[in-house]
Amino acid sequence: MSEVVGRFAPSPTGAMHLGNARTALLAWLHSRAHGGRHLLRFEDLDTGRVRDWAYDCTRRDLAWLGLDWDAEFIQSQRLDCYADAVARLDTYPCTCTRREVLAAVQDSAGAPHGEEPVYPGTCRNGTVNPERPAATRWRVPDWNVCAHDAGTGETLCQHLVSEIGDFVLRRNDGAYAYHLAVVVDDALMNVTDIVRGVDLWPATPRQVALQQALDYPTPRYFHVPLMTDFNGERLAKRGGAPPVRDFREGGQNPRRIVAQLARSLGWDVPDELPAADLIPVYRARLPSTDH
Ligand code: GLU
Ligand code: ZN
Repeated sequence: MSEVVGRFAPSPTGAMHLGNARTALLAWLHSRAHGGRHLLRFEDLDTGRVRDWAYDCTRRDLAWLGLDWDAEFIQSQRLDCYADAVARLDTYPCTCTRREVLAAVQDSAGAPHGEEPVYPGTCRNGTVNPERPAATRWRVPDWNVCAHDAGTGETLCQHLVSEIGDFVLRRNDGAYAYHLAVVVDDALMNVTDIVRGVDLWPATPRQVALQQALDYPTPRYFHVPLMTDFNGERLAKRGGAPPVRDFREGGQNPRRIVAQLARSLGWDVPDELPAADLIPVYRARLPSTDH
């Protein structure tokens, strides 16, 4: 089997909490259990939400937990890569505000079900308000795109035109969209295996679509459950989940935290152990074809 390249891709918008740490642990274990390379990539394109101190805090938290990496990348230093990719796609400028998109969707038959409304294509044949700053939308091809999860065995198919719509690759403030940047980076960094939170599973087909349009290979996906609190609520940076930094600065034993993270996955481990001791545990849980 060719070399596995994995990554952990945090957004430096605050201190990592235990849920972020568990995803980081699983991504690291996946890379290391395959004898692969492991990358750290800061996803900091949404500059309004970035906190300058969060980069270093994340590095320290990871190192404290015993998770290392072979190379580090920062998305805000790679804007040329994203510009090149956008230039290869069929795009058009869009000046609609969020409110206008919502109003147009509500006027037409399909009210938004769930998250993002399907853009009704207002600016497809020319922007209505050329004086406004424009976002860049991808004129999505008429494809039905399927994503496969190698961990859960699930497949998710979406019809781009009717279920996703022309989505934004670059916002009207100039920021490249997460879906674009993640696809470009995973391809340019030769990432073969993506371990990440299941919250990104619904967005995977559109990322696969971008890979296909840009002639990139599709990596293997492994979506992992998000950690929840006592009430079954997903941990969130904004929701008061305890930051790893507090444990680190409070003099806690990182081996205890690692053990708690593993136990929260239902793994039977001692109540203190270094992250590296989990590599054989993780390896033993891989499907036998995958050793
Ligand atoms: N930066 C994303 C996040 O922190 C993760 C992106 C990914 O793993 O594809 O949620
Ligand atoms: Zn528009």
